[in-house]
Amino acid sequence: MDNQVAVLVDLITSATNKTFTYKIPTALHDRVSCGTKVRIPFGPRIIMGYVVPEQPEPVDKIRSITAVVAENLFNEEGWQLARFVADKYLCHLVEALQLVLPPGTSRGVSLERRVEYVDLLLSQLQVRDLMEELGPRAPAQVRILTMLLKERPLIRKDLLKRAPAAASSLKALVGRGAVKMWIERDPASQLASLEVASIKEKQPPVLTTAQNKALQPIIKALTARRHESFLLHGVTGSGKTEIYLRVLATALNQGRGGIVLVPEIALTPQMRERFVNRFGSEVALLHSKLRERERYDQWQRIGQGRARIVVGARSAIFAPLKEIGAIILDEEHETAYKQEESPRYHARKVALWRAKKHGAITILGSATPAVETYYKANRGSYTLLTLPNRIAQRPLPQVQIVDMRNELLAGNRSIFSRLLQTKLAETLAARQQAILFLNRRGYSTFVLCRQCGLVAECPHCDLALTLHKAGQCLVCHHCGYSKPLYQRCPRCGSGYVRDFGCGTQRVVAETQRIWPQARIIRLDADTSARVGATDEIIHSFSQGKADILVGTQMVTKGLDIARVTLVGIISADLTLNLPDPFASERTFQLLEQVAGRTGRGEMSGQAILQTYAPNHPSIRAAKGHDYDGFYQLELERRYRYQYPPFLEVLLVRVLAPKERIAIDLLERVLDLLPQKEGVIMEGPAPCPFLKISNKFRWQLIIKGRHLGPIKDWLAAKLPALTAASQRAGARLTLDVDPVSYL
Ligand code: ADP
Ligand code: ZN
Ligand code: ZN
Repeated sequence: MDNQVAVLVDLITSATNKTFTYKIPTALHDRVSCGTKVRIPFGPRIIMGYVVPEQPEPVDKIRSITAVVAENLFNEEGWQLARFVADKYLCHLVEALQLVLPPGTSRGVSLERRVEYVDLLLSQLQVRDLMEELGPRAPAQVRILTMLLKERPLIRKDLLKRAPAAASSLKALVGRGAVKMWIERDPASQLASLEVASIKEKQPPVLTTAQNKALQPIIKALTARRHESFLLHGVTGSGKTEIYLRVLATALNQGRGGIVLVPEIALTPQMRERFVNRFGSEVALLHSKLRERERYDQWQRIGQGRARIVVGARSAIFAPLKEIGAIILDEEHETAYKQEESPRYHARKVALWRAKKHGAITILGSATPAVETYYKANRGSYTLLTLPNRIAQRPLPQVQIVDMRNELLAGNRSIFSRLLQTKLAETLAARQQAILFLNRRGYSTFVLCRQCGLVAECPHCDLALTLHKAGQCLVCHHCGYSKPLYQRCPRCGSGYVRDFGCGTQRVVAETQRIWPQARIIRLDADTSARVGATDEIIHSFSQGKADILVGTQMVTKGLDIARVTLVGIISADLTLNLPDPFASERTFQLLEQVAGRTGRGEMSGQAILQTYAPNHPSIRAAKGHDYDGFYQLELERRYRYQYPPFLEVLLVRVLAPKERIAIDLLERVLDLLPQKEGVIMEGPAPCPFLKISNKFRWQLIIKGRHLGPIKDWLAAKLPALTAASQRAGARLTLDVDPVSYL
């Protein structure tokens, strides 16, 4: 049995969601182990597979591995992690395994660093003769030989640079049989270039009493190498990040490392610098703006133990860090921690799983914890730690609510209330900075013919198109479809085509119209598309090169800029009115967070919150920074309408070219599903956005206290259901613990 291994074949089919047994040929014996990618015969074909640490099942007719493609792609923990994700989120094992593989592996490209070396083929004496012969006719070739006499072998790139010489000179020497070149795998030397970051911070700040009090129990568990999870509930600017830094320093002292997860858009240069300035080259950064090659190199540094502090977005939770002391989720309530495509994992769940394996501590940090998290903390699953005040007794921003209905009554048709106008004018006059937040990019919300009522809609999505002023085009925010804005209505031919509603572009235009002198920059998906653009925008704003920053969600997180004293929320209602059971939670979190961007320095801050629903509980709670009040009401609502944390939810969706197909498939699932007591089925019903990218979307919501048996049943039937959907040209998806119903 010793020469047999379990292999997971790299095919996503119903028959391959398990391992197969293969024989290791003697020649490959010492190269095949857990994490090796191999070529194997499978049926009539030769395909790829991964060797996994499972007991190989005995088989009658065993086939042999034909080749080794790559080694050490994952370790035993990586495999267990993949299994955990596949079990929990009902996805294929190969899909889950992709999460722990080094970047690029799944596309079949090897990003392994390869280095080209050059060495002499002749003896010293022969070389000297040759140099004399070449003489002044070929000075570059002579320089190359001189270099190699001093030091050999040399890396080709270095040699050419140091000589200096052109590639053609080197080639000529190869042609003469004087030198040879070859390529070798070289993981280390290139990675070293990433390790230039030096520790810039002189002395960390002295902790406040509140910080000390919160830190102590964490350090205690960490030092005892005991797995314990903490909820660090601290208002914006209360010094949570400083606590993370201290915990990580302790983990390093123990010879362990740590992972810090930050929502992608909060991974601002400021945030990154705080970790790099403290830990220098121990830090590996993983975020989506890195090129694949850069991600790969960071991954290698982590795997080799060269970088032990991983700071990254969601998928960094799978980083191959070997000894973990602490896992930290900053802004733990963020929905960005849930992946919205298969595997639909939640990084918080994975973090808790990994921390337990490593005997590590977890910190879930937030000013507005997820209702589910707070509930668990109250029931003792997490230790609750609070930082109720900002650093240095700085007050929380004063929040004022403006009822926009009154503005209309008073004859103010501007997007700015009178109060916000006054405050903006004051801020500008005082040479301080303001952030204007609106959760919608583009210029207007929709374009309508005032004569016949035609609204410009996306032909693929059943949704209104948004006007973008630059280029005068209409854009679908769901599928990206765009077309030029028309002057005359395509239906009735009238010229009364108008745009309604408001996006970030319009906020900029309006602000500029009222304050022509103000320097305004915009940060949203449109202005930040280019690599590096987000950093530039944030940098110039934090350097005071603009007075007003206008933006979407991207301006709500991670910014810590002392001169920002005003935040204007143009419309708090956009997220509130979404057809999603979590809409009120999202709204409260968003408002609290964006308000938290102001008054972080010496000067106190204010937030103006414009709304048509001033009495909504989420809005009132945001005004009073009243997390507990919000939580109590929200929990009651969740109980009444049967949502998490009281019930588990499973969302079954079908995306199909025709509605009938989607409905039929879901009805079949419903018919087949074993009826269990206490399990509620809602649907089949159309999704809130019925048609996106030419696909009709229907769903079935399954709720219950314990969905374990239903999940087992679905996992077993999934292959057949998936196959049936594919035959009908549809796609069936399962979302365990969805964070949004949109
Ligand atoms: P949070 O993560 O809770 O929003 P931060 O850690 O960003 O809070 O802290 C807010 C500000 O206070 C930052 O500018 C930080 O450098 C500073 N700060 C944090 N802890 C201390 C401390 N003990 N003494 C002085 N300044 C501190
Ligand atoms: Zn018309
Ligand atoms: Zn569209």
